[in-house]
Amino acid sequence: MAFESLSDKLSAAFKKLRSKGKLTEQDIKEAMREVKMALLEADVSYKVVRDFVKSVSERAVGAEVMESLTPAQQVVKIVNDELCRLMGNENQRIRFASNPPTIMMMCGLQGAGKTTHAAKLAKYFMKQNHRPLLVACDVYRPAAIDQLKVVGSQVGAPVFEMGQGDPVKIAQAAIRHAKDYGNDIVIIDTAGRLHIDETLMDELKRIKAAVSPQEIMLVVDAMTGQDAVNVAESFHNALDIDSVLLTKLDGDTRGGAALSVLAVTGKPIKFVGMGEKLDEIEPFHPERMASRILGMGDVLTLIEKAQTALDDKKADEMLQKMKQNSFDMNDLLDQMHQIRNMGSMKQLLSMIPGVGAKIKDMDIDDRQLVYIEAMITSMTKEEREKPSIINPSRKRRIAAGSGRKVEDVNRLLKQFEQMQKMMKMMSGNMKGKKGRRMRM
Ligand code: GDP
Repeated sequence: MAFESLSDKLSAAFKKLRSKGKLTEQDIKEAMREVKMALLEADVSYKVVRDFVKSVSERAVGAEVMESLTPAQQVVKIVNDELCRLMGNENQRIRFASNPPTIMMMCGLQGAGKTTHAAKLAKYFMKQNHRPLLVACDVYRPAAIDQLKVVGSQVGAPVFEMGQGDPVKIAQAAIRHAKDYGNDIVIIDTAGRLHIDETLMDELKRIKAAVSPQEIMLVVDAMTGQDAVNVAESFHNALDIDSVLLTKLDGDTRGGAALSVLAVTGKPIKFVGMGEKLDEIEPFHPERMASRILGMGDVLTLIEKAQTALDDKKADEMLQKMKQNSFDMNDLLDQMHQIRNMGSMKQLLSMIPGVGAKIKDMDIDDRQLVYIEAMITSMTKEEREKPSIINPSRKRRIAAGSGRKVEDVNRLLKQFEQMQKMMKMMSGNMKGKKGRRMRM
C-alpha cells in the first residue's frame, strides 16, 4: 500500500506530541526533525522536504498551536493542510474542448503504464457517457499496437491504427476519424523509450504541433520515486505538459513521487493508477490522499467506488428482494461479483478511517470470496433458490464439486441463514418506516 511507512512514522511523531500536553518550541523542533526524516525516507525530493518542514514549523510555533488546548491535534491539522497544499489542494479536472473532440496525448517512458492507462481512461470516460477513441501512435513496436487493441477491446473502446506509419499522420487521421464517427475524446498512445532522448522528444513535439492537444498527460511510474519526478521535469521542460498520471501507486510503499511532482514541475497529478486491472484508476484528490497519509482513511473514494461499481437497477432489485424475503444464493453471488469489482478487500478496508493502520500487516485473503463463489456455483439451481433443501449428501456433493470441505459448506449455509434473518428484520423496519411516513 502507498505511503505505508510514511504514515507509520508520522503517526509515531504525533503520538509523542500527544503524550505531552502543552508543547514547547523544542518539542515541535524534535517532531519536525522526525517529519523531515520520514519524508526523506519516503523519497520526497530534498528541496520539497526543506520547504515543507519550514512552513509547518513556522505555523506550528505560532499562536494557533501554542495557545491551543489541543496542541498536538493542531500540529496534525497543520501537517494535513500543508500536505494538501503540496499536492495541489483540490482535484484538477481534464480540460474539455469547447469544440469536440477533446484531444489527450499520453506520453512517458516505456513501461510507465501508458497503454494500460490509455484504456483505463477510456473506460473511465465511457462510464461518464463519453465516446473515446484510442489511437495507436507507438509505431516502433508492433506489440504495442496489438496491446492497445487488446486493452481497447477489453474496455469496449474503439482503437484507431494505421500500422507502423508516421505517428503525426496517424494522429491527424485519427482526429478526422473521430469527427466522422462522433468520438468526443481522442486518447493518443505515443511511443516511449527506456530513457529520455532527443528523437523521442522531437517526435512528441511534432505530434503536439500537428494536433494541438487540450491535455498532454505525462504517465510516470510512482515506484521509481524521485526518478519519476526527474522524468516529469525533463518532459515538462521539453514539451510543456498539462498534467501527470501517476501509475503503480498500489506498489509504491514510499509515496515520494506523489508528494513532489507538483512542487517540482508546477503541474498537477490528475489521475492515479492503483493496479493492473482496467478499472483501477482514480481521480487524484490531494485532500483525500493527505487523509490517507495521516491514517484518517478515505471514505469519499470508497463511496464513489461503490456508486460506480453498483448498478442502480440491480440495487433496486436487491432491495425489493430483501423486502419480499426472497433474497437467495443467486443474489448473494451477484452481490459478491459487484463487491469484487470495487477492488481488493484490503484496499477497500484501508479506506475506512482508523482501519488502515490496524490491517496493514494482516494478510486479508480475497480467496475467501472465491471459495464462497465456488461453493455456490457447485449448487443446483434449486439449491440456490432454496438452501433449506441442502441435506448431508448434497453438502458432500457441493464440497467435492468446489474443492472445499463439508464444514465450509456448513459455515456458508449458516452465514446465509443469519443474513436472511437480518434481512427479515431490516425489511420489517423498512415497512414500518414507510408506514409511519405515510401517516404523517
Ligand atoms: P507502457 O510501455 O508505458 O505502455 O506501459 P504498459 O501500459 O505496457 O505497462 C507496463 C506494465 O505495468 C504492465 O505490466 C502493466 O500491467 C503494469 N501496470 C501499469 N499500470 C499499473 C498500475 O497502476 N499498477 C500496477 N501494479 N501495475 C501497472
